[in-house]
Amino acid sequence: MTTRIWAVLQQREGKLHRMGWEAIAAAQRLADELGGSAEAVLLGSEIGDLAREAAGHDLAAVRTADHPLLAGYTPGGYVATLAAAIGAERPDFVLFPHTYQSVEYVPRLAQAIGAALVPEAIGFERGEAGLVWRRPILTGKMQARVRTRGAGPVLVSLQSGAFSADSRRPGSAGVAPLPVELGAADLGREVLGVEQAGGDQVDLSKAEVIVAVGRGVGGADKLAPVQELAALLKAEIGASRPVIDAGWLPRDRQIGSSGQTVSPKLYLALGISGAIQHLVGMKGSTVVVAVNKDAGAPIFKVAHYGIVGDLHEVVPALTAAVRESRAAG
Ligand SMILES: Cc1cc2nc3c(=O)[nH]c(=O)nc-3n(C[C@H](O)[C@H](O)[C@H](O)COP(=O)(O)OP(=O)(O)OC[C@H]3O[C@@H](n4cnc5c(N)ncnc54)[C@H](O)[C@@H]3O)c2cc1C
Repeated sequence: MTTRIWAVLQQREGKLHRMGWEAIAAAQRLADELGGSAEAVLLGSEIGDLAREAAGHDLAAVRTADHPLLAGYTPGGYVATLAAAIGAERPDFVLFPHTYQSVEYVPRLAQAIGAALVPEAIGFERGEAGLVWRRPILTGKMQARVRTRGAGPVLVSLQSGAFSADSRRPGSAGVAPLPVELGAADLGREVLGVEQAGGDQVDLSKAEVIVAVGRGVGGADKLAPVQELAALLKAEIGASRPVIDAGWLPRDRQIGSSGQTVSPKLYLALGISGAIQHLVGMKGSTVVVAVNKDAGAPIFKVAHYGIVGDLHEVVPALTAAVRESRAAG
């Protein structure tokens, strides 16, 4: 029997989430690897146009669960719809983008249908004993290789950037509906509205130079030398998530899987360990310079230039060096 792979896309207010393209790329690759077929699945209400957009890929089909009660996302509605669809169609693998939305409902779905769940996968290999997934553990310091046991569908959420959207193959697929039987009781909650936080967000994606700080900077009161260097380099300030969570910088400065994706010409990473969730947001940078006191920090694996040292000594030295070289013309 052919292995069937589903890529569940995510949409909101008439737009497909960019990570859906990565899920399609992953589904196509897995289908190639296993000699199977890839399909995209889309949930929502009046999603014909989005389905046609998704259909421009090399897929066996785009399957739509189109229902008025799916107009807004609710975990209850999504779990009920997908549990029934997976039960009826028996796909072997169901891939999801690893987003705040899927983090909320996919574990519930796995529980509801008794399926194995591999969260935050960053790759897979075909071993002698079957398919092995790779996922980061210990904030990206190590990778675990995971094999699922038993029969039945395997649910996999894919880390942002792990599969390049550019590698997806275009094509022309048919659109076919999935039967949906939903009642208001399945939703469990009502979404009253969605508000965009921080309307006047800083757009870091356009910055040519970014000076980014991590937890290693040690506090908001230690940022002044970093800001001085950034001003000298005409750089935007970015940060890893702990810096934002601690309130040292505003949320619109966060770079990574739950922050902004950037691709500056120069990315200076100061006191950032290099967890996968941070790397996916900045690995498109042309030149990465990392300063970290731990020579084994994973950030050095993606850095073009690395300085092992205390950033509180290195940053003033860099500032002085930039000033000196400018003065020398
Ligand atoms: C669902 C999810 C989403 C996430 N999204 C994001 C995201 O969008 N962006 C993000 O960044 N993270 C994100 N994370 C968190 C991520 O897993 C890491 O915890 C985080 O990136 C680590 O930040 P850090 O490198 O600043 O801190 P740490 O991992 O604590 O590293 C601090 C580093 O500073 C170095 N250091 C300490 N003092 C000094 C010094 N004086 N001089 C030089 N170096 C020093 C240390 O050696 C260490 O390497 C997410 C996690 C999850 C689960």
